Amino acid sequence: MAGYLSIAIDTPLRRLFDYRPPEGMDAGELRVGQRLWVPFGKRRTVGILVGHQAQTSLAEHKIRRAFEAIDTEPVFDKVLLELLVWSADYYRHPVGEVLAAALPVALRKGAGVESTERTWRLTPAGQQDAETLVTSRATRQHALVRTLRASCSPHGLTAGGLDAALPGWRDAARLLIQRGLVEQIERQAVATTPPQGVKQQGPELGNAQQAAITRIEANLDGFATLLLDGVTGSGKTEVYLRAIETVLAQGRQALVLVPEIALTPQLTQRFSDRFSAPLAVLHSALNDSERLAAWRNARNGAAGIVIGTRSAVFAPLARPGLIVVDEEHDASYKQQEGFRYSARDLAIARAQRHGVPVVLGSATPSLESLARLSRPGARTRSEHLVLPQRAGSATAPHIGVIDLRQHAANQGLSTPAMLAIRRHLDAGGQVLLYLNRRGYAPALFCPGCGWAAPCPSCDARLTVHRQDNKLVCHHCAREQAIPATCPVCQAPTKPVGQGTERIEETLGNIFPDVPLVRIDRDNTRRKGELDAAMERIHSGAVRILVGTQMLTKGHHFPDVTLVIVMNADQGLFSTDFRASERLAQSIIQVAGRAGRASRPGEVLIQTEYPDHPLLQQLLAGGYGAFATAALREREAAGWPPFSRLALIRAEATTEDPPMHFLATARRIAKSTRAQVSLLGPAPAPMQRRGDRFRAQLLLQAVAPSQLQTFLAGWISQLDDLPESRKVRWSLDVDPLELF
Ligand code: ADP
Ligand code: ZN
Ligand code: ZN
Repeated sequence: MAGYLSIAIDTPLRRLFDYRPPEGMDAGELRVGQRLWVPFGKRRTVGILVGHQAQTSLAEHKIRRAFEAIDTEPVFDKVLLELLVWSADYYRHPVGEVLAAALPVALRKGAGVESTERTWRLTPAGQQDAETLVTSRATRQHALVRTLRASCSPHGLTAGGLDAALPGWRDAARLLIQRGLVEQIERQAVATTPPQGVKQQGPELGNAQQAAITRIEANLDGFATLLLDGVTGSGKTEVYLRAIETVLAQGRQALVLVPEIALTPQLTQRFSDRFSAPLAVLHSALNDSERLAAWRNARNGAAGIVIGTRSAVFAPLARPGLIVVDEEHDASYKQQEGFRYSARDLAIARAQRHGVPVVLGSATPSLESLARLSRPGARTRSEHLVLPQRAGSATAPHIGVIDLRQHAANQGLSTPAMLAIRRHLDAGGQVLLYLNRRGYAPALFCPGCGWAAPCPSCDARLTVHRQDNKLVCHHCAREQAIPATCPVCQAPTKPVGQGTERIEETLGNIFPDVPLVRIDRDNTRRKGELDAAMERIHSGAVRILVGTQMLTKGHHFPDVTLVIVMNADQGLFSTDFRASERLAQSIIQVAGRAGRASRPGEVLIQTEYPDHPLLQQLLAGGYGAFATAALREREAAGWPPFSRLALIRAEATTEDPPMHFLATARRIAKSTRAQVSLLGPAPAPMQRRGDRFRAQLLLQAVAPSQLQTFLAGWISQLDDLPESRKVRWSLDVDPLELF
């Protein structure tokens, strides 16, 4: 058989490349997932074998020969490779880039998959006579010979093993090598089975936790989606730990995804306190060699638990047993640029391919995950596991609203809020104020003529930053000095509205003696700053916490008894159909920071719209009531999860090309009679950003398969349009942001 190789190469081209097998090799000797060195243009590059082909459409003389195989075994097992190829297809992203993204950098450049290790052992001569040849006066050499002999291992001992047994062994080893009695060898590191067993027992489980565990364990033999819907502090993590314990006892591995790198240390700590099994931790702050080491341990099975952020969904697993997605509603699971995948969705797809369950945990499940419960796929099991109460002695916080129409806010803070802060501080509690807007004020206004400082590069206002004494654009990062007077009428300018810096200032004036910390992106940028702030919070040195979204995610603040949501109104009237879901999630998440230990908590929401149905639902029936109502609205409007969306974004340095390109794209689409509706093209809600003009075209279909079929044909046509060369464009399948 004249076999050809279909090879993926890390380029932006949406296709595979055909090659002949390396000289002297038959295509059949190579397995999919193996890497090869191949010629590509004038370069020599790494390719990954994705499939075999009996024939090719290219002329025989045009097909180049691959240079050589890099690995003797595939870098991706079959299931993982299929998942990656499928996701490249689903998100319509170049497959070579998708496969490259799933590999540690060193492997993209051709490093070996398996690590080799160096060991020292006795030579045959050494085996025979070392003890007679080395006198016991040469103490070190004598000791080394005895250590090597005592190890009884034909492979010898590693440097690590020798360090532990015999400090200062290296000099002795060098002398013994010179005498031909000891040799040094390289060999493949051996895959190990993770040690099982529990270092530390967990607490006795509550009834709901026990019920959840029972359901997870009943599903360990195949694919199932289990939504662990538990209020904050209800012991979801404890449930993961118990399920993982069972999985480890079966000799299998667990993959745990977390939305944010900041949450990995605390979870990693809990896992390593509990289990003897080694962890592999994967996140963006690792250097290349750390990442490679973690990847190898996941792949060879040495790590019983693999924990990581978004891209860890592609971590190789020797014996997968369970996938956990913690805080599954979190938007950071969706990559917002390049390969725009959802790690949550791919975790489900991956679990299905491995035939293992996936546990999606959240106190505020996404509407997608809730909807899946009522419409499971034909052959898939889907279960709702509810933890309605906090674990241990903690009780749920009381939530109330402060009507800003009755209680005017002074610099963002109303009198009832101020009194509540006083009360909680006096009772020894910590107080958390949440405002999802960094900087001092979102605008700089002129009271004289109404001028507001604009960003010269965006259709947006500049934010006032007092700390750095600058105006900053939050969309393109442009900075400029703060003008003291209006450039139009020369009247003095005035910051308007509240950001976290301003709240910090206000609180400093009202409570001058109370230590306070502000946590947002601006003052946690440098390494160690966030940790230092968290340390001051946990030690109790700090009594008031002011912060953005960063404070709402996952952190435990056991002494916080009061949470104030400074302004709920931003999310109430947005045109984005997901805004209300996001608002409800962040209110409930930040509320969950209050009263996590034995002290009862209180939550106050400042709003000018206390009667808004969203707030009413949240107050009366919690997140569940909100979600039920929101799902009904989505269904009526035909928005996801009751339809599927894809968004094409285009941008250019002038205004017309993006609209032209999208209009042409739309025309082609119309001619195919697809079962897809097209909305637009239209300029993006913020048309100009970073000196680029942006436009978009939204596609909507009832079923995912309709969208997929349509995109498969359409996108490759767009690549060929002359209009496409004048713009930068991208496709976002299942977009979270519609701008
Ligand atoms: P979640 O992940 O839902 O926020 P955690 O698993 O972190 O909840 O549990 C919250 C707190 O309650 C933790 O301090 C945890 O150790 C404790 N906890 C969990 N389950 C129990 C239990 N069954 N009994 C007592 N304490 C528990
Ligand atoms: Zn003016
Ligand atoms: Zn800007």
